[in-house]
Amino acid sequence: MGNAETTRRLSKGEEIVLASHNAGKLREFSSLLAPSGVVVRSAAALNLPEPEEDADSFEGNALIKARAAAEATGFPALADDSGFCVAALGDRPGVYSARWAGPDRDMKKAMARVERELAETGSQDRSASFKVVLCLAWPDGAYRFVSGACQGRVHFPARGTHGHGYDPIFIPEGESRTFAEMTEAEKNRFSHRGQAAERFLKECVEP
Ligand code: IMP
Repeated sequence: MGNAETTRRLSKGEEIVLASHNAGKLREFSSLLAPSGVVVRSAAALNLPEPEEDADSFEGNALIKARAAAEATGFPALADDSGFCVAALGDRPGVYSARWAGPDRDMKKAMARVERELAETGSQDRSASFKVVLCLAWPDGAYRFVSGACQGRVHFPARGTHGHGYDPIFIPEGESRTFAEMTEAEKNRFSHRGQAAERFLKECVEP
């Protein structure tokens, strides 16, 4: 037990803490996990501090966040870390996706940097993906990961007004529209987060 990757599951009706202060994520995970009977409480309501996400992988950052919340509350905690990975940029911005937008969270700036750096490589490869890693951590140190990915390509100029982040410059495989040109329900059919949540229900909660 403790400090090791585990195959342990949550039981139905168990309470967990979502290690995020983001109200949108709380809504999203609460509704995704509702069918399993798992009850999701918010870290913001429990006044949890937000730890520095300074790992160089999605797994590392998700573990930092989940572990801090589990230790502070005594409940199992769920955290996620996600990003936009462009193949010709060596999978950057990746874990730095939020940081490329700068302190004023300017996504136009972040998308312009992708376009500029891609042009500088001279590569014609437009493959890209969104990735997410969920980490469930227990107060005794045990933890497990579930991941999701959505493959597609990066597209300039940006198109569409829905969604958030890099949605206007990403077209998922088999589509001609960007994520920002889709409704939330349409995006969820492809999305890395929907896929990871489905796996989480299957693998991390007792049937
Ligand atoms: P975090 O996982 O909340 O730290 O988010 C990392 C960053 O990745 C976000 O700020 C977005 O820029 C980007 N990102 C993650 N998922 C998506 C998505 O579904 N669409 C667009 N951008 C995303």
